[in-house]
Amino acid sequence: MNSRKNVYIAYTGGTVGMKETPDGLQPARDHLQQLMDNMPEFRAEGMPNYFIHEYDPLLDSSNMTPNEWIKIAEDIRDHYSNGERQYDAFVVIHGTDTMAFTASALSFMLENLGKPVLVTGAQIPLCQPRNDARMNLITTLQICSEMTVPEVCVYFNGELLRGCRATKAHADQFKAFESPNFPPLGRVGTCIKINWALVRQPDPHKSMLYMTIHHPVIASIRLFPGIDSKVVSHILQPPLRGLVLETFGVGNAPSSNRALMEALRQGNESGIVIVNVTQCFSGTVNQDGYETGSGLAKVGVISGYDMTCEAALTKLYFLLSRGFSIEKVKHLMQENLRGELTPESERAPISPLLPI
Ligand code: ASP
Repeated sequence: MNSRKNVYIAYTGGTVGMKETPDGLQPARDHLQQLMDNMPEFRAEGMPNYFIHEYDPLLDSSNMTPNEWIKIAEDIRDHYSNGERQYDAFVVIHGTDTMAFTASALSFMLENLGKPVLVTGAQIPLCQPRNDARMNLITTLQICSEMTVPEVCVYFNGELLRGCRATKAHADQFKAFESPNFPPLGRVGTCIKINWALVRQPDPHKSMLYMTIHHPVIASIRLFPGIDSKVVSHILQPPLRGLVLETFGVGNAPSSNRALMEALRQGNESGIVIVNVTQCFSGTVNQDGYETGSGLAKVGVISGYDMTCEAALTKLYFLLSRGFSIEKVKHLMQENLRGELTPESERAPISPLLPI
């Protein structure tokens, strides 16, 4: 009897299966499947059965758009409980450049997941002698084989990260991803260790629910000293529906720039959802900490707390696609939907920033 688990691999592209060309690395058709077929370790004891669906075209993830997130999410939905084979887990092979966006988007689009969706990739392709692709692929498949972590995760370089908490932090290291505001769900050394206390579990009485996204126009702006209010007011125009504002420190902006604050106020009043996330690598927004932060709250900017920019952007796409009122979108942006932000009950109490 074959007791191996069945894993569906959505191979979207990325460095893992790329080949060297005169223009640099590019995805190549059938290449990854052939390489994996010729490596006995992928058929070894403890590995699951896997089926690779190679996307056409294979993409460098810098070319991904929300249309590709929909394609991946629908692919998972279509193979989740239908089809000739019952799949136990899903692996998305993806380029690293926009992996954190896709992982965040999938987290929102696939509600009440009961099966793992592990997104992985590599910094060096499998065809090169020294690479991280081999270990990332093997370990991702082994995690699928040995345990059920029913979340969208990023597996990379020995760490299993919640997908909507991950961010690409290192351009040229094997440790490409970090989860700055939430501990890894698992670590892989000589053993695979999952921190089960952190893993979200589905409601067993409900099925997995796929929700699509439309393509509302959204944007992000990273504040910098000297930013001209005209740049911001030009962006805050129809058809824009949401803006992620990357602010200084704990969520501060140049409040003495009256024209800038007025542009934000008008943007909010015109129905644009403006979300405050910090441009610091880690930590949370606290709009009550400084006058420069509370000024943002006064003009209607809402806190994104400790969300990554990727999570805030994809959550905006998701919520603005639901047909909710602006007030409901604003409310849900500040609520914890998939573990993407630390809920109020678990936030450290807000104390004065300076000792009294
Ligand atoms: N440019 C590649 C991509 O994102 C980088 C990688 O896969 O690591 O597809």
